[in-house]
Amino acid sequence: MGSQQKPCANNCGFFGTSEKRNLCSKCYKDLCLEEELAAMKSVLCSPAPPSPGTAGQSKPANRCGTCNKKVGLTGFACKCGSTFCGVHRYPEKHECTYDFKGEAREAISKANPVVKGDKVDRF
Ligand SMILES: [Zn+2]
Ligand SMILES: [Zn+2]
Ligand SMILES: [Zn+2]
Repeated sequence: MGSQQKPCANNCGFFGTSEKRNLCSKCYKDLCLEEELAAMKSVLCSPAPPSPGTAGQSKPANRCGTCNKKVGLTGFACKCGSTFCGVHRYPEKHECTYDFKGEAREAISKANPVVKGDKVDRF
């Protein structure tokens, strides 16, 4: 028998054979070359192993703004933008620059809209 001749799968006009994936000898050669190149590329272009991590990633030390004690995750962030330990977390315990009085005034005026005492019941 022998191999059946079919038009080249590449539509190049020549006839291919089933042994050569239905390609003519020329297209088959090209395909082989391409596959070889692809294989070589996949080896050459394999992702490089990640370089050993840069040791000593320095995190910003979380310290109390007043006594400089390390507070880590237990630090209390004040509205003035600094972090403090449990002792110095209160605005009166550090030189707080946040305008709490102003905020309190605002909060009070918002929470208690001026009540018009038109009807005050007295007992
Ligand atoms: Zn061909
Ligand atoms: Zn402190
Ligand atoms: Zn503060």
